[in-house]
Amino acid sequence: MSVAENIYSRLPIWGQNLAVTAYGVGWYWKRLGPGFKAQTESFRRREVWSLDRLMEWQEESLGRLLVEAASSVPFYADLWTADERAAARRGRLAGLPLLEKAQLRGQELRFLRRGLDAERMLVFHTSGSTGTPIATHWTVPELRKAMALREARSAGWAGVSFHQPRATFSGRMAVPETQVGGPYHRFNAVERQVYFSPFHLSATTAGSYVEALHRHRIRWLTGYAVSFYLLAQHMLEQRLEAPESLEAVITTSEKVTPEMRSVLERAFRAKVFEEYSTVENISFAGDCEHGRLHVSPEAGVIEILRPDGSACELGEAGEVVATGLIRRGQPLIRFRLGDQAAWDPEPCPCGRQLPVLQEVFGRLEDVVEGPDGRRMVRFHGIFVDLPHAREGQVIQETLHRIRVKVVPSPAWNEEDVAEVRRRIRARLGPDVEVVVQTVDVIPRTAAGKFQAVISQIGGETTG
Ligand SMILES: [Zn+2]
Repeated sequence: MSVAENIYSRLPIWGQNLAVTAYGVGWYWKRLGPGFKAQTESFRRREVWSLDRLMEWQEESLGRLLVEAASSVPFYADLWTADERAAARRGRLAGLPLLEKAQLRGQELRFLRRGLDAERMLVFHTSGSTGTPIATHWTVPELRKAMALREARSAGWAGVSFHQPRATFSGRMAVPETQVGGPYHRFNAVERQVYFSPFHLSATTAGSYVEALHRHRIRWLTGYAVSFYLLAQHMLEQRLEAPESLEAVITTSEKVTPEMRSVLERAFRAKVFEEYSTVENISFAGDCEHGRLHVSPEAGVIEILRPDGSACELGEAGEVVATGLIRRGQPLIRFRLGDQAAWDPEPCPCGRQLPVLQEVFGRLEDVVEGPDGRRMVRFHGIFVDLPHAREGQVIQETLHRIRVKVVPSPAWNEEDVAEVRRRIRARLGPDVEVVVQTVDVIPRTAAGKFQAVISQIGGETTG
């Protein structure tokens, strides 16, 4: 815990709300300050462009990025061969090597464009659940542009806005983890935003979460899909009613299964929209009114590749590789996201020509199955907001037994163990046996990769 977090955790709840609001003033300026409105308008304007025109725009933007990377980003300047530099100058992505997470981890600063001062940039970390967190560096205008994109093509398509009251489940620890008794949210009065704690959510506390939705007349929900799903389950079981004001649920981070979608829509009586992006912010896609996942070409170039590196045909599933166009200060080029997807050959009835992704799957080894047959992907979400776990890995040994390996920090305790069990059972059902094991290290694969989820059942149907 940092000094600031330590002081914060000792404040009374009204003091914490005040602190969250004060903190919110700074963030409001960083996220929705000068330029946000104009950027939102330009995303809206381009949304109706023809595909050709969008691709031309993207090609031009990518061309500039690659030239900059070859000459002024130390990592690429050192790594790329003469041939690769030539490919970069011609704007030919296919001539460049793929980038692995392991290459980025620990040397994030070598990806910063020369002349940028890391100290003056914003830093966001990816979650530690897939290995040591990666530091992503942003300039304020880059953050604003990313927010404008979400305002136009995520909130906007769902009929809501960042200027309306919303509630979020996110990695921010607004409620001290040691707190016993409610409320389990804090309120940022500047953005009229309720921050929910994913860490305190349970059958006993669910009522307090729903009350906050009513009290602040929340219009939309956004954040961790699984946390909202767990809240929705409690609401249905306890007949807790969502407020009438609620219009949309926009999920991030985790894949929404059809079962989750139906539970969310029944509990919140609002339409669910999925957002597909990553903390690295190198790609962005959002559901339109017709529930089709449209990619925003201005956010990044998405390639879907076969194992031999060639591009997949429309409708053919392959590995997603992305090159971000918004975060130009720390460019990630041909970054392997670890997801599988396919381009949808069918045009969308909404009329937008923004390309459509067919379902995005986690890696195959990311699928975890419950004794009753339910399947979940992106299961590493169970380590979200477990600050005492430095690294974690989920191993499905049989249909009925999950082993969780954790590299603990000194503060790791019995409550954390119980929390891991609770989260896994909430997702896979009460009958699953959960073995939590603390270890010094989680071994990497021969290729040096960290595996967040390992399935040892290989398609068996009995355990
Ligand atoms: Zn559409």
